[in-house]
Amino acid sequence: MRQKIVVGNWKMNGSFLETKELIQSIDSAIDGKIDCQIAVSVPFVYLNCAADLLKSSQIMLGAQNVSEHSKGAYTGEVSAQMLKDSQCDLVLVGHSERRQYFNETDEQLVKKVIQAQKNGLYVIFCIGETEQERVSDRAFEVIEQQLALLLDSADVDFGNIVIAYEPIWAIGTGLTASPEQAQEIHAFIRDVIKNKLSALAEKIQILYGGSVNEKNAELLFKQTDIDGGLVGGASLDAKAFTAICQQAK
Ligand code: PEP
Repeated sequence: MRQKIVVGNWKMNGSFLETKELIQSIDSAIDGKIDCQIAVSVPFVYLNCAADLLKSSQIMLGAQNVSEHSKGAYTGEVSAQMLKDSQCDLVLVGHSERRQYFNETDEQLVKKVIQAQKNGLYVIFCIGETEQERVSDRAFEVIEQQLALLLDSADVDFGNIVIAYEPIWAIGTGLTASPEQAQEIHAFIRDVIKNKLSALAEKIQILYGGSVNEKNAELLFKQTDIDGGLVGGASLDAKAFTAICQQAK
């Protein structure tokens, strides 16, 4: 049985004070009452503050990006070792906003995964098709392509990776894939992984992301191959995020 996991992605939102308040509200609402794994991915500059507040919490701490390099003259970048120093447990890699606005390539993303894992971080590896790709019946092909280099790499530890399927047309739009649409793609992702990694595919958690909220989470999380959610907008509201976590059983 795969345990469910819900990860909040705060993106570039909040202030120092808001971060403190949101962490405290989520932590006290959850208070050991929820079975699934829970994480919040906060902006880099608030990681240390969040880590202090989460010291004795069940909530794991995540970053939203990591450098593909280990150290050196890469102004503005943050290394995996720095994230580990800041008490991070995990990091998002390949979010569609990073692929789209910062032109991150599949090659770079695999390097990021390897850096993160070398430094003891779990990786949430994000994939998903655009609206155009879906309407032109290319969703399966795009997803297979986005996984290809990752699955071919001998340096990736598949025991420490979670895949997040996030159809781009559903991110921040209020549109959600139906549970059936999402399940179809999740089952496909598991099959693609199975072709390369055999039985390990059954152990890998595959999350759904794209306008998950307290109303649609239950049905999505009930699907056989949906092992939880990556939540953007609704993770900025402690009540909504906690309600979503409660449905990940
Ligand atoms: C995300 O950014 O990963 C995401 C799923 O956002 P939202 O829940 O707001 O669609």
